[in-house]
Amino acid sequence: MYRKNAWEKYSEKEVKEVYEFGNEYKEFISKCKTEREVTNFSIELLKDKGFKEFNEFETLKPGDKVYFVNKGKNVCAYVIGTRKVSDGLRILGAHIDSPRLDLKQNPLYEDHNFILLDTHYYGGVKKYQWVTIPLALHGVVYKKDGSKVDFVIGEDENDPVVGISDLLPHLAADQMSKVAAKLIEGEKLDVTIGNRPLKDAEKDKFKSFILDLLKAKYNFEEEDFVSSEIEVVPAGKARDYGIDGSMIAGYGHDDRSCAYTSLRAILDLDVVPEFTACTILVDKEEIGSVGATGAQSRFFENTIHDILEATNELKAKDFRNTLDNSKMLSSDVSAGFDPLFPEVNESKNACYLGEGLVFNKYTGARGKSGSNDANPDFVAFIRKVMDENNVNYQTAELGKVDQGGGGTIAYILGNMNMSVLDAGIAVLNMHAPMEIVSKADVFEAYKGYLAFLKAN
Ligand code: MN
Ligand code: MN
Repeated sequence: MYRKNAWEKYSEKEVKEVYEFGNEYKEFISKCKTEREVTNFSIELLKDKGFKEFNEFETLKPGDKVYFVNKGKNVCAYVIGTRKVSDGLRILGAHIDSPRLDLKQNPLYEDHNFILLDTHYYGGVKKYQWVTIPLALHGVVYKKDGSKVDFVIGEDENDPVVGISDLLPHLAADQMSKVAAKLIEGEKLDVTIGNRPLKDAEKDKFKSFILDLLKAKYNFEEEDFVSSEIEVVPAGKARDYGIDGSMIAGYGHDDRSCAYTSLRAILDLDVVPEFTACTILVDKEEIGSVGATGAQSRFFENTIHDILEATNELKAKDFRNTLDNSKMLSSDVSAGFDPLFPEVNESKNACYLGEGLVFNKYTGARGKSGSNDANPDFVAFIRKVMDENNVNYQTAELGKVDQGGGGTIAYILGNMNMSVLDAGIAVLNMHAPMEIVSKADVFEAYKGYLAFLKAN
């Protein structure tokens, strides 16, 4: 079962390629910190590579490159293969939402000369990790007239940042005796955005100053928060991590490292594949894959119906066959082995940064509950594809038995009767404001995904 570390197999030239790919990925996660930003950036990349939106086609033929966008928050791209669509798809699916803090609908308040924004956290966060770090606001505000205001505050180096305060150690005796889950309570994750009064205002001086500023600079008013989507995320760019530059520190590797590599795989597909290739990027995985833009949405099935109609495969059986015959890699991150916390893993079945793409036959918790658990024949098919394409891979479980657990979107596509295997990138500090991945793993994931889309 011995496997070579990915770095050990690279020539000097390949190392350069791995670092260069890492730079392109760093640019992507530095720019794209919300699902909307990923969707918009993905559309630009797709257009650059000759993909066109579905409604620009009357019919589809082998080699056509087509994409669908769902409500600005999820995107699905296809390259039509030489075989019938109903012979099955090759699907890469990743999620583009990440844990963060969302503003409440009525967020703004003034308290003892400060202006703060109330939040409700999104996804699984260790709340104490989100205080005393620079944060940015990425938002969209819809006004009653239907117009939209997009804004980002805190990413340009000349921008101010915002943040959440914490107690000084001198006065933290009570706080420090609490259990970690209660150290910072959810209702205390309020973001400080100002401390300056409006001269001569009669009341709410501090609030008035900020509201005037928001109106002048972004043209929205307090009531417009009701129909806004404003995400509080770690500020700043992704950086190289480690003095050898072998890793990347950044926000949102879960799951944008897999989203980017899955997208790049379909963008860089340099042949017309036999089987129709597909990359789908979904929202809301971190809160259960529910809702219109999550993996459980009808959106994906609807795109398949559209593709079948456009390739003149019109029987109900064609749809069922497409699902039955499809193969999917559910591209999501895995918990990398951390030498500071070896006790949560069983070392033979853990994944290690630098050892390549990670396959999780199953995820889940307490006896694999909630897991997709891939069929062994499909795992064998994937092994063959990876080995034939010299892709480094490893296998893992999420922690040792009964240590905890987690899930991905794999079971949702599995429910459609597709063959699905979890395949992703090992991450340290998962769900923390600063997550870590290996450049080698990002590159091996890209290679593995590309090989999968071409596989027969
Ligand atoms: Mn994930
Ligand atoms: Mn996650």
